[in-house]
Amino acid sequence: MNVVFLGPPGAGKGTQSVMVAEYFEMGYISTGNIMRSALKSGSELGNLAKSYIEKGELVPDSLVIKLIKEVLTLNPVENGYVLDGFPRTIAQAEALDNMGMVVNKVIFLDASEDTILARMSGRRVCEACGKSYHLISKPAKVDGICDKCGGTLIKRTDDNLETIVERLKEYHKKTEPLRQFYLNKKMLNFINGDGTIDDIQGKVIKAIKEGI
Ligand code: AMP
Repeated sequence: MNVVFLGPPGAGKGTQSVMVAEYFEMGYISTGNIMRSALKSGSELGNLAKSYIEKGELVPDSLVIKLIKEVLTLNPVENGYVLDGFPRTIAQAEALDNMGMVVNKVIFLDASEDTILARMSGRRVCEACGKSYHLISKPAKVDGICDKCGGTLIKRTDDNLETIVERLKEYHKKTEPLRQFYLNKKMLNFINGDGTIDDIQGKVIKAIKEGI
């Protein structure tokens, strides 16, 4: 089974998709996490993606599609993947089909603008492993330190108001059309992400189980 998480930035895809991957023991791929690691390490991918990420724009399809092909080839898994943040354009979704990857479920997690802004402004991520926290709704046990790996928690550089506005514009223009794309394929499960992490998790797991 392969599951795709779609929705606006800040709707909670990261938190929910990691929990789903753990619950169903599936592989987890976040293109955003891969990009941030590449930026940090100063790799070729990082250098190519840097200006787009900093401006809140999507990285060009050709680059992301090449990246996802490599990741899928290098990390075979038994129980399928949870894809967080990929595909984000129609071209990426078509490329996924052409790679022969069957998407069984698409979880479209939406949220109101107030929720999105509150989630993004309080979000902290581990600099080392990428695990995501929130100052109020999902705090670390020790302030500023990752529960999982002991890394330092930082605010993402693209979680500032100016970049958030750009990311939302990109989302509406390039990613939102995927809602209709997957609706036509009868794969879409729409879930309202305005709620507590546990409530939303219950709805997400139910939607996935109903499809197995
Ligand atoms: P995320 O952590 O998923 O919010 O992604 C952070 C940033 O990485 C995005 O704002 C984009 O600049 C870039 N990015 C992540 N995934 C993709 C993708 N599938 N296509 C294009 N750009 C992406």
